[in-house]
Amino acid sequence: MSESVHISIKGQPGGQPGGQPRGQPGPGSGPGSGPGSGPGGGLGSLPGSHLATAGVALEGAGRGERPAVRSLYIHTPFCAHKCDYCDFYSFVDTQDLQAAFVRRLCAELEALAKHSAGAPLRTIFVGGGTPSLLRVELWRDVLACLSDHYDLGLIRKWQGGDEQEGVLRSWPEAEFTVECNPESASAELFDVLHGGGVGRVSMGAQSFLPKHLSTLQRLHRPERVAVALEAARAAGIARRSLDLIYAVPGQTLEEWAVDVSTALSLGTTHLSCYNLTYEPSTGMTNRLKRGEVTAVDEEVESLMFEHTGLVLERAGLKRYEVSNYAVPGHESRHNLAYWLGEQWLAAGPSASGHVWAGASAHGGGHRFKNVGGMSAYLAGGADGYSPIGDHEPPDPVRALRERVMTGPRLAVGVDVEGVLADAVLVRPACAARLEAAALELVGDGLLVEAVDGGRRRWRVTPGGWLMADFVAKRLMKAVGE
Ligand code: SF4
Repeated sequence: MSESVHISIKGQPGGQPGGQPRGQPGPGSGPGSGPGSGPGGGLGSLPGSHLATAGVALEGAGRGERPAVRSLYIHTPFCAHKCDYCDFYSFVDTQDLQAAFVRRLCAELEALAKHSAGAPLRTIFVGGGTPSLLRVELWRDVLACLSDHYDLGLIRKWQGGDEQEGVLRSWPEAEFTVECNPESASAELFDVLHGGGVGRVSMGAQSFLPKHLSTLQRLHRPERVAVALEAARAAGIARRSLDLIYAVPGQTLEEWAVDVSTALSLGTTHLSCYNLTYEPSTGMTNRLKRGEVTAVDEEVESLMFEHTGLVLERAGLKRYEVSNYAVPGHESRHNLAYWLGEQWLAAGPSASGHVWAGASAHGGGHRFKNVGGMSAYLAGGADGYSPIGDHEPPDPVRALRERVMTGPRLAVGVDVEGVLADAVLVRPACAARLEAAALELVGDGLLVEAVDGGRRRWRVTPGGWLMADFVAKRLMKAVGE
C-alpha cells in the first residue's frame, strides 16, 4: 500500500502532527524516544536541569493572549514486556521506578496546571506504555493530583455520557480516557479510575487469535478482553473502545474478519483498526529483514481495510478518521483535538504537547516534546516542568501543511475557506495551487467538494479512503515546503 493509508499503532493517532504517535513528524523524533530507550536511555544520562523545559514553550507562548488549554495527555512508560513492533517510549517495568515516576509526574502536573486555569479540562488521555500496569495506590495519587490542580467539573459531568440505547443523545463535551491492556486491567483498578472521573477506556485487544497475539508478542489470552471490558462496564465506565491490528504476518482476510466480528460482538461502540507498520529499528522490522516474517500482501491489506469499513458501517460504527470508527457520539474527543489542531498539555517522558501562540490556531502553535530518558525525566527541570528534547516554534506554513495533511484523513474533511484564507495570508501563490490540486483529485475520483453548515469541505470519496494519505501528500505539495 505504498500510496495508501499508513498509520501508526495505538496511543495517539499516527500520521498526523502533534500527537505522541509513532511516525509522527515534528517533535515526535526527539531523543530518547526510540525503541530500546530503557529507563536510563537517550538523554537520560544527562542531568535534566541542563536541558530546556516545557516552560520555554508554555511560558513563551504569550499565556495572557491564548485561551486556557483544555486537553491533557499523560504518558506512562511502563510495560510488562517490550513488543517487537513497538517504537513508543516504554520499557519493561521492574516496579521500582513507579513511585518515583508518580512523584515526578504529580510535580509536573502541578506546574502545567496554571495553563488550564480558568477553564475546566475537556479531555484527558492517559497512554503509554501500559497505564494499567501502574499500581492502584499510585493511580490514586495521580487522580488526586489531577483533582487538586485541575477543574474536572466538565469531565465528571460527562463521565457517564448521555446515552440511550447505546447512542449518545448529544456530543460529549468532555472525556477522560485511560489505555488498558487486558492482562493488567483489574476490577479494583476500574473502580479507582471511575472514582477519579474516568469515563472511557481504550483496550488493547489487537487480535482474538492466539497465533497473531503471539506474533505481536502480546501477553494476554483473547478471552481476557471480554473479562476486562465487563469489569470496566461493571465499574460504571460508560465508553469502552478496542484497538485492533491488521496485516499481522500470516494473517488472512478471513481471520481479520473474525477479529472485527468478535470485537463487535463485545458491544464496543468505538474501534481503532491500525495496519501493522514496520517502524525503523524495531525488532519486527529486523525479523522482516531476516526473512523470519513475511509482510501481508498489499492487495490483501487493502481488502482488509475495505472489509473493516463495510462491516463496521453496517453495524452502525462510522469511520470518522481513516483508522477510527464509532457509533455517532462515541468518537474520541481527545483524538479529535489532535487532528483539529487544538491545544493540549503533555506530561510524562516523551509526551508531546501543542499550545497556540495567540488567541486561535491561526498561525500555528508551539510543539514540544519531553525527553524520553527516564533519568532526565525524573531529574525534572526548572519550576516543576520537564526537560524537553524538542521544541518547534510556531510556523504558519507548517500549520497550513498540517491542516491539509489531517483534513483528508477525517470524515469531516478539509475546511476549504479556512485553508484558502490562511493560504492567502501565508503564501498567496499556493491558494490557487491548492484549488487546482483539489480539482485534479476530484477528477481522479478521490475527493468531493461538499457544503456543510454553509462551509465548503473537501472530503475523500468512499472509495478514496484507502488513498487518504496520497490525497494529503498532494495537497501538502501544493502548499510547498
Ligand atoms: S504493550 Fe503497547 S506500549 Fe508496551 S511495548 Fe507492547 S505495544 Fe508497546
